[in-house]
Amino acid sequence: MTHRRSARMSRAFLPVVCVLALSSPPPAAGQSKIDSLSATERRIAAAVDGRTAQALALLERVVNINSGTMNFEGVRQVGAAFKAELDALGFATKWVDGAGFNRAGHLVAERNGRGPRILLIGHLDTVFEPRSSFQKFERLSDSTARGPGIIDMKGGDVIIVEALRALKAAGALDRLSITVVMHGDEEDAGAPLDAARATLTEAAKRSQIALGFEDGSGDPHTAVISRRSAGSWTLRTTGTAAHSSQIFRDDIGAGALFEAARILQGFRERLGGQQYLTFNPGVALGGSEVKYDTAQSGGSAFGKTNVVAGQTVVSGDLRALSPEQLERAKATMREVVAQHLPKTTAELTFDDGYPPMAPTDGNRRLLAVHDSVSRALGFGPVTAVDPSRAGAADVSFAAPYVPMVIDALGLAGWDDHSDKETADLRWLPRLTKRAAVLIYRLGSRESPIPRS
Ligand SMILES: [Zn+2]
Repeated sequence: MTHRRSARMSRAFLPVVCVLALSSPPPAAGQSKIDSLSATERRIAAAVDGRTAQALALLERVVNINSGTMNFEGVRQVGAAFKAELDALGFATKWVDGAGFNRAGHLVAERNGRGPRILLIGHLDTVFEPRSSFQKFERLSDSTARGPGIIDMKGGDVIIVEALRALKAAGALDRLSITVVMHGDEEDAGAPLDAARATLTEAAKRSQIALGFEDGSGDPHTAVISRRSAGSWTLRTTGTAAHSSQIFRDDIGAGALFEAARILQGFRERLGGQQYLTFNPGVALGGSEVKYDTAQSGGSAFGKTNVVAGQTVVSGDLRALSPEQLERAKATMREVVAQHLPKTTAELTFDDGYPPMAPTDGNRRLLAVHDSVSRALGFGPVTAVDPSRAGAADVSFAAPYVPMVIDALGLAGWDDHSDKETADLRWLPRLTKRAAVLIYRLGSRESPIPRS
């Protein structure tokens, strides 16, 4: 939804060297196994190579089905295509109807094995509704293709399915405990949000590891271990209406607009400059009478220059990196609001939206495993994307419940959310292998992730 506008914008990485030093699995004994592929892992990689043409054909087929979020029939059709693939791999699949939150619904698939439960997160919808002129898969060159949702994120969904197929071909799927959740409304979540995300949060509560297959920064050598939250707030103030010539008199006070201005300035003074914390008043209305419609993000105000303002409404957003940072910011904002100017009132409400996905030690450990898999496959290192460059995404709803989470394991490319959305097809088999071997190692009893 609010993720990357242009895939090429974010090439800034967090240095991961210190992270690896802190969190690498113990060296020596296990090291050679981690840095090279086992026989099973080589079979997994070979199985992916044997399916290159079919994987691309599946991608073309699902990209050619319009699944704009509000095209419920199209979203269900794309869901049915992936459901059939997962059924064939022995998953128990179901479609969760979305009528309760005015969306198409979600696809859920599950297998029970012995290992830790791994949650794989995709989505079926795109930002391109049927009225868009951008509707079809188009091959541009040997290595690139353009299409609506090709990287955001039907490519990631194909990687999920093909990675699982390769695990099955190598005889490694039965031991794994896996849940797949593919949302039908990632780009424009249904309401109420709690209902629209209940399927994912329930699955997250039962999982030890979550992997998101969004397309990320566009650089397959990066992954996302943290995303900032994306929520909003609304401030309403009141003042005592009176002739303007009497403003600041003890019984008349400062008026609603000065109270709102004091509060906004207070937010900036108390909270400005904190790393990864941002808050932006995006719309403000004030005067004698104000009408504000949240859904329309707009309204009207009436007032006169010679009348002390009686009402204001200000609406803005708030983004933070961790639940703690978010709560501290909210507490400070409430403190600022509480110090009213004479004869005014102020009320602040929050709408949380996407929770923060904090850069936890678990997420860093998971990235370290992902990085070692990538190196073992010969695809080079993987480092973390700077969270100030990563917007909110569905994985954020799983993050509060799952000890280890990373995202952006999906298909590499550029210009998602535009009619130039293009995939780098050379990375489709590579990223499928990387995901499959990662899932294999995470689900293995010799998992390199230390158990706490
Ligand atoms: Zn997406």
